[in-house]
Amino acid sequence: MGKTALITGSARGIGAAIALRLAKDGFDIALNDVSERSFEDNDIMERISALGVKCEKFIADVSDYKQCEEMVKAVKETFGTIDALVNNAGITRDGLLLRMAEENYDDVIRINQKSVFNMTKLVGAVMLRQKSGKVVNLASVAGLYGNPGQMNYSASKGAVIAMTKTAAKELGSRGINVNAVAPGFIKTPMTDKLTDEQRNAMLAQIAMKRYGEPEEVASVVAFLCSADAAYVTGQTIEISGGLSM
Ligand code: NAP
Repeated sequence: MGKTALITGSARGIGAAIALRLAKDGFDIALNDVSERSFEDNDIMERISALGVKCEKFIADVSDYKQCEEMVKAVKETFGTIDALVNNAGITRDGLLLRMAEENYDDVIRINQKSVFNMTKLVGAVMLRQKSGKVVNLASVAGLYGNPGQMNYSASKGAVIAMTKTAAKELGSRGINVNAVAPGFIKTPMTDKLTDEQRNAMLAQIAMKRYGEPEEVASVVAFLCSADAAYVTGQTIEISGGLSM
């Protein structure tokens, strides 16, 4: 195929599933995560390389502009092009508003929201020169509807949805599609941290009465990165088993 996808926070969870799926679709894969340690105890590089596509990993904290700049330069030098960017890296630091520490608010905004500015600006410049590209941002149902205990997270994901629309308007005339997905409850290390009470409360609201799998997010992201979605931009697709309708 000769196309490259860069997926942030892709050592594990939804990011790893997206990387694997895009590799199956023929993309060469630039993996990213915040530390070498993130790649320990998983075989994502081996699984992707076994598919016969090129795969390299790039260590960078995507909330840090300078590190993003160095990573994007290195990815461009390694692969020649960047055709798809998936802004997936994200964290939670949950807590009720009145008990939420200021640093937990700031960390979530920096990692979930500023990272999207950093990466879209830097990779957007590469895509502008190519006159083509796909950007997919990982938002959340929390960014659409709010969620108790997630003032920081829902603010960051609501911003990601607004940033998706703005980037789509700025870049659309240059052949660049920018979309978001808003997952509900997906089984990953991020949601493993929730209590049984929180899980059961969530399950009661889900029309399909089950949690989602990372692969079910990856397949929608793959569609948005494909030629089949050529006329889709600025949209946020909810992947929540009917959590909210
Ligand atoms: P996850 O299992 O916690 O994986 C997130 C990945 O991002 C981890 O590998 C993590 O690295 C990496 N990361 C964290 N901070 C980073 C940074 N500053 N720079 C680079 N990488 C960083 O989470 P997930 O459930 O797969 O979530 C992926 C995305 O989907 C997130 O944006 C999340 O908000 C969104 N989402 C998830 C759900 C869900 O139900 N799981 C629902 C809605 C939206 P370490 O392992 O080293 O920490």
